[in-house]
Amino acid sequence: MFDKILIANRGEIALRVQRACRELGIKTVVVHSEADKDAKYVKLADESVCIGPAASAQSYLNVPAIISAAEVTDAQAIHPGYGFLSENADFAERVESSGFVFIGPRAETIRLMGDKVSAKDAMKAAGVPCVPGSEGALPDDPKEIVKIARAIGYPVIIKAAGGGGGRGMRVVHTEAALINAVQMTRSEAQNAFGNPVVYMEKYLENPRHVEIQVLADQHGNAVYLGERDCSMQRRHQKVIEEAPAPHIPPRLIARIGDRCAEACKKIGYRGAGTFEFLYENGEFYFIEMNTRVQVEHPVTEAITGIDIVQEQIRVAYGEKLRFRQRDITFRGHAIECRINAEDPFTFVPCPGKITFYHPPGGPGIRVDSHIYHGYTVPPHYDSMVAKVIAYGDTREQAIRRMRIALSEMGIEGIKTNIPLHQELMQDARFVEGGTSIHYLEQKLADKGEVKK
Ligand code: ADP
Repeated sequence: MFDKILIANRGEIALRVQRACRELGIKTVVVHSEADKDAKYVKLADESVCIGPAASAQSYLNVPAIISAAEVTDAQAIHPGYGFLSENADFAERVESSGFVFIGPRAETIRLMGDKVSAKDAMKAAGVPCVPGSEGALPDDPKEIVKIARAIGYPVIIKAAGGGGGRGMRVVHTEAALINAVQMTRSEAQNAFGNPVVYMEKYLENPRHVEIQVLADQHGNAVYLGERDCSMQRRHQKVIEEAPAPHIPPRLIARIGDRCAEACKKIGYRGAGTFEFLYENGEFYFIEMNTRVQVEHPVTEAITGIDIVQEQIRVAYGEKLRFRQRDITFRGHAIECRINAEDPFTFVPCPGKITFYHPPGGPGIRVDSHIYHGYTVPPHYDSMVAKVIAYGDTREQAIRRMRIALSEMGIEGIKTNIPLHQELMQDARFVEGGTSIHYLEQKLADKGEVKK
């Protein structure tokens, strides 16, 4: 096994990866910005290296600084976590050409999946069902574009091939608005992602977001670890995730899961990954693949008993997967609430000093967080400060445990979205399960109407 791994990330995921390394007997190097120098997880690591000032562009995205930190500390591999450089093919390439192991897929796989047009093509070829849409990129000729939209049927959605983070998308309801929308999305895509290529999909009006977790080794083996439902979203950002997805027949999951595992074999995938789908009327439609560990991975760990981060490290080292599909069983139900430092009603970020902290506990509760009493949440990064995961034999028990956990959890000095989560855990439609990706936005809009 590796002797030493460098963790190129911060916050809860830096601590999560560190814990996995320690359990495997691997030493850790954590890189950090000046803003994170006093964080406890930095002190807990075997070694730490400051790689630059607070601004991410000069620290967590600073490739030469991260590579030299790995060189001076003699680390053998680099774990990128999620966000930052985790899906940057050039970074993965630099890591490997500098003689280190990148804990993730090969650079060419990241590149293939990072372009949504090539990702969709690859998935179609591998037999994964996709949202009906244009064959690849949209042509320039407006007449052709109109023809394509007619064939798909309105409403359609224009999406940027290089898009991400919920940006670079436009819904079109009528032919009159089509060409203008394509032009606007093209120029936005050029400005935001440096790539004007756009494509067209059928716009699904009431889907759920259901994703499949996969694990693949470098010896041609791949398995799926079930699904997660991440439909509770605000501005295309996940707020609550759970596994399994309520009310979806297990045979449908098994069928799509097998397809995903087969697709991994076909594209020579390695490591952990997620196939994201929209799910509507009993059908799955691929939208994109994430080639890294995800924020919501703990709900899958809870129902499978598999430590996804440790498995990432094992397969990166070259080990064979230690289980076959038939060895993987799903037990119970898990729900994750993302706790953000933000106003629970306006969603304005609220960094600052935590003057009191009391984490929840008890049966079935897991808290992944780097915060503590006296910690200052810096203003420079993502506002997520903790993940609370509740596990139960049934979904009802997981919800009950989550309600108790949220009522116990105390964070003072900063505002958090705990009140929103408490409200959602009592929401009749959430408790029923199976809400669509528009549910939360709609609920928040209705609440705003009532207040006015
Ligand atoms: P990003 O990479 O920006 O997250 P995705 O392709 O994953 O973009 O889409 C993000 C979200 O946009 C989805 O979770 C869904 O809410 C919405 N979306 C994307 N494509 C469609 C579609 N064809 N129909 C309806 N909603 C869509």
